[in-house]
Amino acid sequence: MKKKVLLFSALALAFSSMAQSETPESTDLVIIGAGGAGMSAAIEAHNQGVKVILLEKMPFARGNTARAEGGLNAAGTPYQKAKGIEDNPELFFKDTMKGGRNINNHELVRILSEQAKYSIEFLKINGAELADVSREGGASVDRIHRPVGGEPAGSFIATALIKKVKALNIDLRTRTSATEIIKNDKGEVTGIKAKGKEGNVYTIDAKKVMITAGGFGANFDMIKHYDPKLVGFKTTNAPGSLGEGVKMAESINAKLVDVEYIQIHPTTVPGKGILITEGVRGDGAILVNEEGKRFINELLTRDVVSQNILKQPNAHAYMIFNDALVKQNKTIDTYFKQKLVFEGDSVEALATAIGMDPKQLSATLAAYTGYAKAKKDTEFGRESFKQALDTGKYYAIEVTPGIHHTMGGIAINTKAQVIDNQGKVVPNLFAAGGVHGAHRLVGNSLADIVTFGRIGADEAVKEIKAGK
Ligand SMILES: Cc1cc2nc3c(=O)[nH]c(=O)nc-3n(C[C@H](O)[C@H](O)[C@H](O)COP(=O)(O)OP(=O)(O)OC[C@H]3O[C@@H](n4cnc5c(N)ncnc54)[C@H](O)[C@@H]3O)c2cc1C
Repeated sequence: MKKKVLLFSALALAFSSMAQSETPESTDLVIIGAGGAGMSAAIEAHNQGVKVILLEKMPFARGNTARAEGGLNAAGTPYQKAKGIEDNPELFFKDTMKGGRNINNHELVRILSEQAKYSIEFLKINGAELADVSREGGASVDRIHRPVGGEPAGSFIATALIKKVKALNIDLRTRTSATEIIKNDKGEVTGIKAKGKEGNVYTIDAKKVMITAGGFGANFDMIKHYDPKLVGFKTTNAPGSLGEGVKMAESINAKLVDVEYIQIHPTTVPGKGILITEGVRGDGAILVNEEGKRFINELLTRDVVSQNILKQPNAHAYMIFNDALVKQNKTIDTYFKQKLVFEGDSVEALATAIGMDPKQLSATLAAYTGYAKAKKDTEFGRESFKQALDTGKYYAIEVTPGIHHTMGGIAINTKAQVIDNQGKVVPNLFAAGGVHGAHRLVGNSLADIVTFGRIGADEAVKEIKAGK
């Protein structure tokens, strides 16, 4: 009996797949991947009156976006002005180019630096106001925007966007993977193939397709292929970050850029790949090695800090902070919940809890407090001091570098149109991202995905309305 039921279900599934593949659906815009870029694009396009299908292969829309802890960079926002922070797109541009070792696409960075403030506005309108501003690695001024109270920015943004996607009744299909981009014989993209919840494969004819399927930071084969030095490193990325969008684009002759640049994040928990946000250092934490000595300006870029941690004994370090900092940064609560934090009522007690020399750690903290109060770090040149670290209770988290961000991806132009290997636009195909060059500054990815997600959607809508 059981066998008959199984056979019947298999046949029903096969027929339903055939039926679906024989009569393709059609829509205006298919968006592949419901992270921050995909959801921003979907909301923008829907609000401009076009029919959108948003595909997400995982059971929930979220992606790496929901893992972001620090925040989103933007220059010239009302929140900066209210705090008296002098910033402008030119400075943002220069910091981003310097961070990316000047190999970034200048035109895209120019757009990012000018338009990220509108992404802050877009997020506010859509329920994710990032009204607090702080300083993080590689930025000349306080520029990273996050929710008031230090709540992790990514889940705050993702939750708001999911709510909006649902409220707008956008056709979000979870557990549905895009498997192929379809082109006609003129080289124009005409739709995609998707694999649905039941394993059924079907075609969606679409006037425009946008790829927002994220990076490949959890695909260890691709990591090994592009940077064999990283074999054996853990990753901070969501399990869905397998580079499927990049591979689908590559298979239709789209150009890839900067894929060989894979960022390791300096502060992930050894063996676990859990990321300790830069926000903790930005809010005043320091790094010491296992001997209790500082070894770097903690706010230098990720690549520099990572390389310096790897040079310390046993290639690890401890992030040290205190109660005053914990009160400012809600993200730290999640580290306590995950039991990642050592603690002590005094510096000496903390050192003992970690197995470090108490005298050395006390000397290091005393010196740092002096620098913080004088606002001059004569040892390592740190310039931002949000805490003097002169009162307890004291805390530490052990950290080591881990795989964090795949800088490169699908090449786009300033309209977020995909470019092919001959430098021509691939008709009807859009993607978000690609501004980071050799190295991404913290806060620039959320800025990138929301900004280019919106730009790609906007351009796709323009073309649809113009009948192109
Ligand atoms: C731990 C962590 C902390 C971070 N902190 C920050 C930060 O503070 N500031 C910052 O700017 N950036 C940060 N980043 C980076 C940033 O979060 C990501 O780069 C960014 O959110 C990626 O957005 P996305 O929309 O491009 O991709 P994602 O958010 O990853 O979304 C892509 C989606 O596509 C789906 N998908 C993949 N393949 C398919 C397919 N074939 N069919 C259908 N769906 C598919 C995936 O499941 C996923 O949901 C952090 C990243 C991590 C991992």
